[in-house]
Amino acid sequence: KRKQQRTTKDLVDAILKGNITALSQAITLIESKNLKHTDQANAIIKACLPHANTSIRIGITGVPGVGKSTFIEAFGTHLTTLNKKVAVLAVDPSSSLTKGSILGDKTRMEDLVKNKQAFIRPSASGTSLGGVARKTRETIILCEAAGFDTVIIETVGVGQSETAVHSMVDFFLLLKLAGAGDELQGIKRGIIEMADAIAINKADGDNLKRAKLAKVEFNRALHMYPTKDSDWQPKVTTCSAIDNQGIDNIWQIISDYITLTKKNNYFKNKRTEQNKFWLLQTIEEQLKNTFFNTPKIKDELKKQLDLIEANKTTPFAAADYLLSL
Ligand code: GDP
Repeated sequence: KRKQQRTTKDLVDAILKGNITALSQAITLIESKNLKHTDQANAIIKACLPHANTSIRIGITGVPGVGKSTFIEAFGTHLTTLNKKVAVLAVDPSSSLTKGSILGDKTRMEDLVKNKQAFIRPSASGTSLGGVARKTRETIILCEAAGFDTVIIETVGVGQSETAVHSMVDFFLLLKLAGAGDELQGIKRGIIEMADAIAINKADGDNLKRAKLAKVEFNRALHMYPTKDSDWQPKVTTCSAIDNQGIDNIWQIISDYITLTKKNNYFKNKRTEQNKFWLLQTIEEQLKNTFFNTPKIKDELKKQLDLIEANKTTPFAAADYLLSL
């Protein structure tokens, strides 16, 4: 036990010094299904918490092929030239099935991977969005403790993962393509409503004209929404991730947003609300895990399931009994 404690302290000390190897090891502990690892991860997170909360957290979403990886490569590199330390994480609950559809293939961010001011970590694997999201939230804390002042969280624009990412970031950026015919889809699914900015990517070559038209259309669409609690009017812009055009402008938009929301306290309030949400989520998950992992419960649960099969008890009586243990 003492050895484990020493390891925990060593890891925390190293993380606080910005050691990437220690950071990676701690994230692996977070992602592990081994309960001992979970305990150690929790101790590390607790020790890192006072040093967290320091970064700007940016969520980036968009359909596969919109250019997320290319964009993050350009955007992240731009941030490092501004002397920022950038961590790139992902929320992709399906990645265990598709073998890491996002960020799994690190060659997609060739330059950023090699950049000493950047840290890229693929999505935790797992099929439950809640589980994957929680691990990512915890990973954000460790990245911040390690000195990363900008955390980018990528998610694929399919399914519910945008909502999960939205609940853990300060700024939500939606990448779009001109004339891809998915404009209405985004509106229907409420994703556009979550966006603090929409960037129409691939605004280059033959596509430039259409991208500019799309910008006008999205601007019109956005004006139909009521003003946000943040008092921020979502921005629409064009960019070319491949040609490195408009990337600096997107950082400017984010900076403006941060300035405004820090001034009117929305920034702080939103984080407080998110923390309350995390607290409740974490309690729920921990209660469940503790309960189902208690040996006595495991045994008794089996017995009660047998009794149900034999029609000798009701689900409610069985649940009451198990909970009373
Ligand atoms: P992701 O699936 O959203 O991560 O998209 P990728 O970053 O993998 O990009 C998908 C394809 O679009 C790749 O072939 C990229 O080279 C290309 N692409 C990405 N950004 C741009 C851009 O700004 N302009 C053009 N013309 N192509 C781009």
